[in-house]
Amino acid sequence: MILDADIKAQLAQYLQLMEGDIVIKVSAGTDETSRDTLALVEELASMSPKIKVEKVQLNRTPSFSINRPGEDLGITFAGVPLGHEFTSLVLALLQASGRPPKVDQKVIDQIKNIKGEYHFETFVSLSCHNCPDVVQALNVMSVLNPGITHTMIDGAVYKEEAEKRNVMAVPTVFLNGEPFGGGRMSLEEIIAKMGIEQDISELANKEPFDVLVVGGGPAGASAAIYAARKGIRTGIVAERFGGQILDTLGIENFIGVKYTEGPKLAASLEEHVKEYNVDIMNLQRAKRLEKKDDFIEVELESGAVLKSKTVILSTGARWRNIGVPGESEFKTKGVAYCPHCDGPLFAGKDVAVIGGGNSGVEAAIDLAGIVNHVTVLEFMPELKADTVLQERLYSLPNVTVIKNAQTKEITGTDKVNGITYIDRETGEEKHIELAGVFVQIGLVPNTEWLEGTVERNRIGEIMIDKRGATNIPGVFAAGDCTDSPYKQIIISMGSGATAALSAFDYLIRN
Ligand SMILES: Cc1cc2nc3c(=O)[nH]c(=O)nc-3n(C[C@H](O)[C@H](O)[C@H](O)COP(=O)(O)OP(=O)(O)OC[C@H]3O[C@@H](n4cnc5c(N)ncnc54)[C@H](O)[C@@H]3O)c2cc1C
Repeated sequence: MILDADIKAQLAQYLQLMEGDIVIKVSAGTDETSRDTLALVEELASMSPKIKVEKVQLNRTPSFSINRPGEDLGITFAGVPLGHEFTSLVLALLQASGRPPKVDQKVIDQIKNIKGEYHFETFVSLSCHNCPDVVQALNVMSVLNPGITHTMIDGAVYKEEAEKRNVMAVPTVFLNGEPFGGGRMSLEEIIAKMGIEQDISELANKEPFDVLVVGGGPAGASAAIYAARKGIRTGIVAERFGGQILDTLGIENFIGVKYTEGPKLAASLEEHVKEYNVDIMNLQRAKRLEKKDDFIEVELESGAVLKSKTVILSTGARWRNIGVPGESEFKTKGVAYCPHCDGPLFAGKDVAVIGGGNSGVEAAIDLAGIVNHVTVLEFMPELKADTVLQERLYSLPNVTVIKNAQTKEITGTDKVNGITYIDRETGEEKHIELAGVFVQIGLVPNTEWLEGTVERNRIGEIMIDKRGATNIPGVFAAGDCTDSPYKQIIISMGSGATAALSAFDYLIRN
């Protein structure tokens, strides 16, 4: 039995929700994954009279596709979608059976209207928490549009193919055989990336807001809720609603919740914001802010200009690049930033982690369980991580820590093959051969677009007072984009609330 009793019980409930019949076409050989694939689809068929299994020859063996009787939908799983991909399998079964996906009608219409042939392939690992979103989004597109197909490929099963196609990070998406994108992407982001034109007339014609929040992470979500609860006209514009927590796995310090996971918290933030009358403008990037006499204007990359009486900036932060030769050339070709996602692709290989702070040491501990060997490179004479983490790190047999190491170059040809560093004590240049480099050297605030307007400190953080006010009247800021000394979810949410209450106070007084 490939499914354990708990999973089977859950699955049985989901399968009750199936509407029409489906046909699973399976291509299996004699290898172990083929046996597991066959066992999985046969177990599914044994659980619902609506599921039929046909043995066929597909492009990849082992793999299976999910179809309607007499209609190929183009959804294929190459590998056994358990682990993080199990939900993708369940949703594909339900949607193929005719249950409508939980997607905005506007987006559904947009997908149905896409013309042309789009064959997507997504390389995943079963431990990647960013992969299911991409797999599920592309499966929805396949269900809705006959010109679109999607194959999920488990990189651990199709290791040779992954290596041949230089896949060194997951999810990696190919469109019609060419690289399309990587990392977590929502349905809307994928559509935007496909170049399907956006209608900005609705955005451009919005009435002015009382409070416009720029950024949809924990700080922005909190600010929007606090503002909307005052009954004032509130909007939130975000490049990617959810922010950094979308890339976070376990969260154990969100007080009142013993354990949660980033994507789950992001979904409940969105749900909470939607409880209120907040105009959410997702997948919109702000590029200019200007204080005019009556309003503050925020111009978006799409060309639309939004007006508001007050603005709360909560654009957060992103991974800091190390900025050495090789880093940008080999991004997704051996240079990685997310150990949870990309670690499994380096199974049995040697990797380095640059950075000896908490995130670097946590990454090294994580990776040591998967890869052959981890070298931690720390610029300073000592690691900066908490003592408990350092103790755990030093107890591992396959980790080497090099301190006083200044990374000079990440080397490679078509993918990473090593790292060169300078021993800061001796000045000597050294080279280590390895397959992957994980950069873990902290964060940089997303505030470049405010150059010349809002006052920022030396490292680009927006300077605020204890009310969250910036140097521009009516413009407030919150969260990781500010000069707050600590960057945490709960702190960002608190400062979002402060900024919203201050904005409300400003509106009353002006
Ligand atoms: C791997 C990882 C693990 C972490 N683990 C924890 C943890 O366990 N506990 C904890 O408390 N904290 C943790 N953190 C930190 C926490 O995630 C951040 O402190 C928090 O997300 C900051 O929230 P924020 O809203 O200020 O910014 P962000 O979460 O960065 O959100 C910024 C928002 O602004 C948007 N944006 C950016 N630029 C623009 C623009 N120009 N126009 C429009 N929108 C824009 C983004 O798309 C996003 O929606 C972790 C961070 C990382 C990266």
